[in-house]
Amino acid sequence: MAEKVCRETSRRLSCPPEIRERDARVKRRKVFLTFDDGPNPIWTPKILDILGQFQLPGTFFVLGVYAAEHPDLVRRMISEGHEVANHTMTHSDLSKCAPDMVRREILDTNAIIDKASPGLGVRFLRAPYGVWTPELCVEAQKAGLTPLHWSVDPQDWSCPGVDPIVDTVLATVQPGSIVLLHDGSPPNELVSRACTASREQTVMALPRMISTLKERDFVISSLPNFPRQTDPVRTA
Ligand SMILES: [Zn+2]
Repeated sequence: MAEKVCRETSRRLSCPPEIRERDARVKRRKVFLTFDDGPNPIWTPKILDILGQFQLPGTFFVLGVYAAEHPDLVRRMISEGHEVANHTMTHSDLSKCAPDMVRREILDTNAIIDKASPGLGVRFLRAPYGVWTPELCVEAQKAGLTPLHWSVDPQDWSCPGVDPIVDTVLATVQPGSIVLLHDGSPPNELVSRACTASREQTVMALPRMISTLKERDFVISSLPNFPRQTDPVRTA
């Protein structure tokens, strides 16, 4: 239910959950792999290794606190052709934060990414838990970021098993889908959900997922350029 609410809110607030052809000239059967809540010193390198073996691009929505600890991993993402995007500093539910806090969560993360890889130009923001609000979208716009949701969610963070992760993606993917995966865990969940902090299942699922997507003629792609949004916030 929560996922449905988030997804409907994302549509209403123009935080795209998928890339439509009319939006982004999706040619062929493009899909987009995104990885949230890293960088993580154990799991992110394994995911980068897999993407490298397949020579495919991914988009990493990093947490500022982790990017500050592992700027080398941010630089590795960039140097290997991936995109680094903003998933806020601490993964707080920003719908419960004051505007100043929301702004800090976004801008501090941009600054840390920029420090790790100067001049990069972060393009996208993803709300923690996918909880979008009009205020967050306004702050994203002020920071020059496009809000981006997802359309395929195998819940890999909950460690449901390798087969369910692969099967959910393959059962729900369509041209233009944005697939949500995880290369890390938010700081507050390392303790409260220690049992699900491992990303081993994601790492094991990824090669199978990629191979089958390729067999089905999907093209795993970088996120396209979006037109600069002058009025992305619709609250009606
Ligand atoms: Zn997250």
